[in-house]
Amino acid sequence: MDNRYPSLEINLKHLRSNIEVVRKKCEEQGICIAGVVKGATGLKEVAECFRDAGVQYIATSRMDQIVSLRKGGMNYPMMLIRVPMMSECSDIAEYVDCSLQSELTVIRAVNMEAKRRGRVHDIILMADLGDLREGFWDKEAFLDCAEYIEKELENIHLLGIGTNVGCYGSVLATNEKLSELVDLSKKVEERIGRKLEIVSGGATSSLMRIWDHDIPDGINQLRVGEGVLFARDLAVYYGYDMSMLHHDVFKLKAEVIEVKVKPTHPVGELAIDAFCRTPHYEDRGMRKRALVAIGRVDFGDLSDIFPKEKGIALVGCSSDHTILDVEDCERELVPGDIVEFDIDYGSLIYLSSTRTVNIRYI
Ligand SMILES: *Cc1c(COP(=O)(O)O)cnc(C)c1O
Repeated sequence: MDNRYPSLEINLKHLRSNIEVVRKKCEEQGICIAGVVKGATGLKEVAECFRDAGVQYIATSRMDQIVSLRKGGMNYPMMLIRVPMMSECSDIAEYVDCSLQSELTVIRAVNMEAKRRGRVHDIILMADLGDLREGFWDKEAFLDCAEYIEKELENIHLLGIGTNVGCYGSVLATNEKLSELVDLSKKVEERIGRKLEIVSGGATSSLMRIWDHDIPDGINQLRVGEGVLFARDLAVYYGYDMSMLHHDVFKLKAEVIEVKVKPTHPVGELAIDAFCRTPHYEDRGMRKRALVAIGRVDFGDLSDIFPKEKGIALVGCSSDHTILDVEDCERELVPGDIVEFDIDYGSLIYLSSTRTVNIRYI
């Protein structure tokens, strides 16, 4: 049972260490962490790891993940970080402690659902500061909405405000950009005549401000997923030193099913591949190739997996097969051998959610 392949190995010790290191670094600067588990599609063991590492909330964009964690016995503050569908309002009132919101009609509906249950639901009202995904663009409308919630909605508590950058618009979480959120929070506080508990200043990309020690005063929460699951983006794209974090929380293993020397250019009249594409094939003569029993059904896109072993390179894949060039591999591969891959966020969402992958915790 346990040695079914492909398998995804998750090192919970390393994950926990990553979360704790980032949490402490943030707390030293007055910032709490909402631990975002959507990258690992809300796996229970991963969520428990975030809980044990002491995050402020367990957060995800998907209601089904929250519901299944709750039903699995997770008794910990949970946050819904995709502004919700109208059709999710009853589940929000039932299962979610805090939600990000941007539409008054939806907030009103959540208010009704919370009222029916005799509860008060916390929300973080989202402002769009230029990344152009969720949130109010019109800042007057934002203030009016905050005031309306405060005065009129008895079963909604305006816990704070937040923003998201670097997702659609690739906007950088600069000190100036995040200061706009702090300014806005002061305006809201003036309007409603009290302090806000939370000013939520973005995701992993905002960790740059923690690493540079220049996060604006007033921000007190970040919602972090990638930065603890992989800790890769800030190092690879921005040159930040992430060496205090583990980069091997996830490891993918697949089994070799064929090893043969074959031409590198297809032989025959070429048309389209399995996905109706017309790829270019480089002719490198005859080379040794290994076929492994894993494919797009498991990992999504071939560019999101990375062979770990020297001398092994990706050639191509279809739904259930991946072709590796192993001509330069020192190991003499045979069917039944196991090949290891590093993965990234893009493939983890598939690997962690498909029935075809055997997930093992180490
Ligand atoms: C996904 C998401 C996050 C976490 O993003 P990471 O880059 O993985 O840290 C935070 N906030 C919102 C609103 C999100 O959708």
